[in-house]
Amino acid sequence: MQLNDLISKSLNDERLTHDEIVYLLSLPTTSSATYQLLAASRELSGRLCADKAEVHAQFAVNLAPCPKNCMFCSFAAKNGIFKGSTKLSHDAAVTAALTFEENGANAIYLMATASFDLTEFCEYGREVRNRLSSDTILIANVGDQNAQGARLLKDAGFDGAYHALRLREGSDSDIPPDDRLASIRAFKEAGLIVGTCVEPLGPEHSNEELADLILFTAAHQPAFSGAARRISIPGTALAERGMISELRMAQIVAVTRLAIPHVVKGNCTHEPCGIGALAGANLFWAETGANPRDIKEKTEDGRGHTVDTCRAIFNEADWQTLEGPSAFFK
Ligand code: SF4
Repeated sequence: MQLNDLISKSLNDERLTHDEIVYLLSLPTTSSATYQLLAASRELSGRLCADKAEVHAQFAVNLAPCPKNCMFCSFAAKNGIFKGSTKLSHDAAVTAALTFEENGANAIYLMATASFDLTEFCEYGREVRNRLSSDTILIANVGDQNAQGARLLKDAGFDGAYHALRLREGSDSDIPPDDRLASIRAFKEAGLIVGTCVEPLGPEHSNEELADLILFTAAHQPAFSGAARRISIPGTALAERGMISELRMAQIVAVTRLAIPHVVKGNCTHEPCGIGALAGANLFWAETGANPRDIKEKTEDGRGHTVDTCRAIFNEADWQTLEGPSAFFK
């Protein structure tokens, strides 16, 4: 296979095959070929968003041990990190959302653990929606939903949903993969725009598995795709598998961009990093409150980034950042 031919195909919005994606993923991370990939992804990503990267911001309305037991998540009951349950007051949720809006986040995400009551989640959504500017994009990040649940979210004022079929779903989590797919379909049918990602990447995942998931995200034509590595939660079984480097994550971010149709403008990575921005990530997340990759109850005291920090990382990679509502979710 010729690298230049595959890059040309991608720049022309022709689809890469599974074998071609595997080939790109198998290039050594420090090879000049991989740097060529990163450059091509950066060029394409910039072209598709008029060189305006975005910062989205997420906070959790609750913190609780979650029975779905995704092994990579600090909320998983079996990881034993968080024992008690707490939730934000509605005032605190509104304050968190308004602070993100004031700080210039291009979209605001409300997150809850999978067993949190959806009706209650929608009450938070309504309160927040009513206080935000009408053009601020509001996104839900919740557990799996059927058609009725998806409609409740839409009626509460959410514009979209973040949802992903995670790597080794069903074996590294207690969630049947079909449930994730059904939820994505339900969200779309309810009129919610879906953002997704290839996550959480670990060293044990084969290039074939990654290619499967890249093509899965491409098939749903989301607001954004991208790639995010697993962050080790200390003392857990998955921590023993280790973490991939930021450079390997950047390579997967770049291949994802090159493999996804141009109609998808967003290419995320998490956690925010300069190599990811250089490799064509045009979406980072700021976070406050509970965070599934953190063992601190308030991630602003731990791994969480602010909107300003995310912008600064983009600027260091010579990205400008968008002012105003997300273009990815339009
Ligand atoms: S990722 Fe979501 S569903 Fe899985 S354990 Fe964490 S909160 Fe629960």
